Amino acid sequence: MDSLPVDLGALTLEDLSEVVGKLGERPYRARQLFRWIHQRGAESFDEMTDLPRELRQRLSEQAAVRTLDRDAAQRSLDGTVKVRFRTRDGKLIESVYMPSADRRTLCVSTQAGCAMGCIFCLTATLGLERNLTPGEIVGQVNAVNREVRRDEGHEGWRPLTNLVFMGMGEPLNNFENLKAALAILRSEDGHNFSQRHITVSTVGLVPMIDRFAAETDVKLAISLNATTDEQRSRIMPVNRKWNLEALLEACRRFPLRQGRRITFEYVLMRGFNDSDEDARRLAELLRGIPAKVNLIPYNEAPELSFRSVAFERAEAFRELLSGLHLAAFVRKNRGRDIAAACGQLANRQGSGPAAQAAVP
Ligand code: SAH
Repeated sequence: MDSLPVDLGALTLEDLSEVVGKLGERPYRARQLFRWIHQRGAESFDEMTDLPRELRQRLSEQAAVRTLDRDAAQRSLDGTVKVRFRTRDGKLIESVYMPSADRRTLCVSTQAGCAMGCIFCLTATLGLERNLTPGEIVGQVNAVNREVRRDEGHEGWRPLTNLVFMGMGEPLNNFENLKAALAILRSEDGHNFSQRHITVSTVGLVPMIDRFAAETDVKLAISLNATTDEQRSRIMPVNRKWNLEALLEACRRFPLRQGRRITFEYVLMRGFNDSDEDARRLAELLRGIPAKVNLIPYNEAPELSFRSVAFERAEAFRELLSGLHLAAFVRKNRGRDIAAACGQLANRQGSGPAAQAAVP
């Protein structure tokens, strides 16, 4: 018999069935295992009480159900929780849980660090440590889902309602593993997330946007952040390879289901990209694309020189866009006090209540 893959949480139900078959077990055992791992968030074989003890024993000798250790968590005054995980090789990654009145969203990381080098983002200062495996990507969801269910006393399997791939790393720079993770997260025997409730955000890796369109069906967000090539290339090195024209072309050919839009994230940095002129250029750039703009007031970091905008400026910018028939929203800056907000994930402590916290 081949040796078992170590991380069972990284396997689709199909692959798991193969493994179970090789062990000489009945196929339905695979579904049982899959449900234990992804629906109930089991962290050991011991918990899987409806599996024969002998099978659990054999599995535990050759495989694992958990790849991430929960290292620490911090809770923001606004209810946001940043959870830090440690991978088996000691890398630290972060996920951010954001409960609100109508949804519970998890912001998921796809890489330890990031290679994109955007000069306004703290994660970029880490550089790329490595890609996360499908098991590590899914593992963040399983762990937080389990914790929220326990702490908030949810009866159902899945308190999390939405996933955004906007944590550490560039998802489309780890596309194969992202795709494998999405297949697991979408599975009916697992979390059964609908494509409407999953959003993947990219800096704009143009060829990968085309593949993303062809090979997945979840929603797309683009970190735009500027309205001219000169401006964008200064803050996002990726723009020197695929400029605004190439990026927006890719957006224009992106197949959208009925009623769907592409989300454009636009981080507002005072005196850099927040002028009336920028708003007008932005509306012009996105003309003809079913688009929605999320305006994110910049989260300052001591070592980075960009400055945030006042809420009034963000609001005025939004109104300008709305007047030009571009749907725009000012995003709340959640978890700023614990350094869990956009662009702040860099394995550091926030300035706020740094105590260990449970989720929520
Ligand atoms: N690499 C992907 C996924 C990360 S999303 C992407 O870039 O889309 C993280 C988002 O936070 C991006 O939209 C980025 O533009 C934004 N961001 C980065 N640093 C920020 C900061 N300091 N303040 C506010 N937003 C920031």
